[in-house]
Amino acid sequence: MEISTFKKLKKKAGMLFENRLQPARVLEVRYWEPSTIIEIDLHMPFADIANWNEIPYIKFKVGDLTFRDYTPSGWDAETQTCTIYIDAAHEGAGSKWARMLEKGETVSYLNIGSTHHKPVATSAVVALGDESSMGHLLALQKMVLPNTRFSGGLIIDNEHHRKLFHEYFWSPLEPVARGDIYGHHSLMEWVLNQHYSLENTVFYLAGNNTMVTQLRKLLRNQGYPSGQIKVQGFWS
Ligand SMILES: Cc1cc2nc3c(=O)[nH]c(=O)nc-3n(C[C@H](O)[C@H](O)[C@H](O)COP(=O)(O)OP(=O)(O)OC[C@H]3O[C@@H](n4cnc5c(N)ncnc54)[C@H](O)[C@@H]3O)c2cc1C
Repeated sequence: MEISTFKKLKKKAGMLFENRLQPARVLEVRYWEPSTIIEIDLHMPFADIANWNEIPYIKFKVGDLTFRDYTPSGWDAETQTCTIYIDAAHEGAGSKWARMLEKGETVSYLNIGSTHHKPVATSAVVALGDESSMGHLLALQKMVLPNTRFSGGLIIDNEHHRKLFHEYFWSPLEPVARGDIYGHHSLMEWVLNQHYSLENTVFYLAGNNTMVTQLRKLLRNQGYPSGQIKVQGFWS
């Protein structure tokens, strides 16, 4: 394809997206120490927050024709606000965008989708994830408690971040040190030590694709039926 035709197509695609973008205002940016987890409060006047009955994700514009999904951990329909947690320990367009955000600026998002994760009628919910799914797991906690028993393990690599997690939140989620690259072995070991019953325990897995896929396999091998394992892969 000729370069000029490619440029024209790119411009057209850009304009199509631009017309659909909605604004959100950055109310606060908080960096965990070390600053690879970034916590961002947003005001989203045009979001239909009152109808977020499943864990949503927001597709933000993080660069030219570049979009990344982030999960609101909690939301308030009255004030039209929510908080997202971005794992920015790696180099990527989303990480770079998150590191540059400042209080008071306006960001854009393309749409708000659903992961279709919502509490099911059961006696125990177990959530398993990594740093990128911290928001997802905290959102699940808010939806599940106090009606259902809730617990889970969250891979957090940095020791100080593991301490901060307990300081910042009241949560039955337990930070677990990463003993393998993607974290599924560490989480499986953690699950086995909990001695969960096979019946009525529903697992929610979210985070990196390898962790989610491998953890699902390991749980299936332990005898958990597929209907009791909900998965949402985030990145690979
Ligand atoms: C439904 C959904 C919800 C999501 N919610 C969140 C959220 O709340 N918070 C969040 O941080 N992410 C979330 N993600 C993941 C996020 O959208 C991006 O895919 C991810 O952050 C990487 O974007 P990036 O541009 O920084 O890196 P990319 O440019 O996509 O990747 C660059 C490199 O970094 C690696 N990489 C990507 N992410 C990570 C990571 N977290 N840790 C280590 N290496 C990585 C990739 O394998 C690649 O090699 C979500 C994804 C989905 C699908």
